[in-house]
Amino acid sequence: MAHCIVPEAEAILDKEFKVLDRGFIRLVDYLGGDQRIVQAARVSYGEGTKSYREDAALIDYLLRHEHTSPFEQVVLTFHIKLPIFVARQWIRHRTARVNEISGRYSVMRDEFFMPAPDALAPQSDDNKQGRASTPFDDRTATQIQEILAEGSKASYDRYKELIDLGLAREISRIALPLSLYTEWYWQIDLHNLFRFLMLRLDTHAQREIREYASTILELTRTVAPAATESFERHTLQGVRFSGPEIEEIRRRLAIGTELAPATSAAPQDSQPASSSRLSKKELERFEEKLKTGRQL
Ligand SMILES: Cc1cc2nc3c(=O)[nH]c(=O)nc-3n(C[C@H](O)[C@H](O)[C@H](O)COP(=O)(O)OP(=O)(O)OC[C@H]3O[C@@H](n4cnc5c(N)ncnc54)[C@H](O)[C@@H]3O)c2cc1C
Repeated sequence: MAHCIVPEAEAILDKEFKVLDRGFIRLVDYLGGDQRIVQAARVSYGEGTKSYREDAALIDYLLRHEHTSPFEQVVLTFHIKLPIFVARQWIRHRTARVNEISGRYSVMRDEFFMPAPDALAPQSDDNKQGRASTPFDDRTATQIQEILAEGSKASYDRYKELIDLGLAREISRIALPLSLYTEWYWQIDLHNLFRFLMLRLDTHAQREIREYASTILELTRTVAPAATESFERHTLQGVRFSGPEIEEIRRRLAIGTELAPATSAAPQDSQPASSSRLSKKELERFEEKLKTGRQL
């Protein structure tokens, strides 16, 4: 009952999992696992361990009902190497504890992120924050990579020049770009880790942080497999419906209507579609949600 040892997690402790071109994630340590979640949840009844199936069902119940505190009893610590522009997005998750390499204390290493050709795409037409799904042709991609490589090299040369001039490291580093790699220890409890994963595995999140989130998901699975499975089932693969959307589902099930596009009724964007409380836009979003299984 005391210290939880999870053999699958023990087997990967300290192993480096590569992310992007030079980044990595290592699981440094963990506290608790599925067992700790059920122990914490059952402490009020003084009940002991039950079968794996019963424990997994309890975890699933807790997750479905957002009984979150037992998940906070599980803590994971990662060592992560990541480009600064990814770190800037990552650090917004305030519920973690972070120790980052200090550019005031150490001379930063000459390590920059270089996107692979298939990650180089024009600005998206329909997503102001993202890039299009079709990458540039090989020639343009090579040209872009050359520009990025020249920029990184020139920045690092300037940085070294300033250091060699005797300028303090803490101010010399302002010459360095966002593609520079940094490293940190990142510790977070399982409840907040799942929130991080929900936000950063979503297709709206930037591709590079999504790649880190995918690796974190797999490492988390080794520590708490039943909780991770429930999280995938209910949160990652599930969607939320509003009251009017639920009403629409009931209406369709009751009359057996096919999931046809709402455009035939041609209501105005802000007007309810015929026999539905949803406007045309809301109906389109609702149907897209049903088709894709994505939260929109
Ligand atoms: C796809 C995407 C696009 C984004 N775009 C932008 C953008 O353009 N600009 C931008 O600035 N940010 C952007 N963000 C960051 C986003 O707004 C959040 O800051 C980030 O996702 C962290 O979420 P969080 O606050 O829920 O996480 P955490 O900081 O881990 O917090 C978890 C939860 O704890 C609670 N909490 C924690 N700290 C506090 C506090 N101090 N006060 C009150 N409640 C607290 C909140 O309920 C919070 O939801 C984006 C995020 C995503 C995923």
